Amino acid sequence: CGIVGIVGNQPVSERLVNALRRLEYRGYDSAGVATIEGGALRRRRAEGKLVNLETKLKEEPLPGAIGIAHTRWATHGAPTERNAHPHFTDGVAVVHNGIIENFAEIKDELIATGAEFQTETDTEVVAQLVAKYRRDGMGRWQAMHAMLKRVRGAYALAVLFEDDPSTIMAARNGPPLAIGHGNGEMFLGSDAIALAPFTNEITYLIDGDWAVIGTTGVHIFDIDGNIATRPRQVSMAAA
Ligand code: GLU
Repeated sequence: CGIVGIVGNQPVSERLVNALRRLEYRGYDSAGVATIEGGALRRRRAEGKLVNLETKLKEEPLPGAIGIAHTRWATHGAPTERNAHPHFTDGVAVVHNGIIENFAEIKDELIATGAEFQTETDTEVVAQLVAKYRRDGMGRWQAMHAMLKRVRGAYALAVLFEDDPSTIMAARNGPPLAIGHGNGEMFLGSDAIALAPFTNEITYLIDGDWAVIGTTGVHIFDIDGNIATRPRQVSMAAA
């Protein structure tokens, strides 16, 4: 399983799928990609190998200079297209590797307040929670932080907001997550190998970190919302 993201200045969907291919060694059962273009979030998802996703993208290309992508190793919910990430709720897109341990409790609570779930995954509570916090009046950063305070478990997460076509938010607790520094573009990946074709300048998040990634840089915070300083390293991963 794996995660990649690009906050770019040129089209991303093909580059995202190529980066996912560099994470294939981790295993997966389905895959998906989401971008924002012209103020609209769009996605393509497919069961099975990446070639199936590529076929869909050929038939219906996904324009956009910002996007996130995912290979899934299902833990909750069958490996179907419907359960494949990214999950979309009210303008919030989420990809996740790991397990949200308290998802059942959160899901019951959200359903009681009228939420309608589209998948059987544990992950969907992340998108639903962030969307609910936005409806409650929180800003994007605040909603992301509130969601992270509510979920328990292991995660690498990437989140896109339809109303902000220039930022990816990310969070890590358990599975690794690397941020790549490019030239007018920024990258996100499960490891430096995925990002090697784009950049070898990497900042690793540590457990509890979350990040707001724009085209020219990244803001990193710890779980309490304090600014965190993490070193920028040169990776030896080969493109
Ligand atoms: N638990 C999530 C799911 O089953 C993510 C699995 C993964 O790590 O890919 O959808």
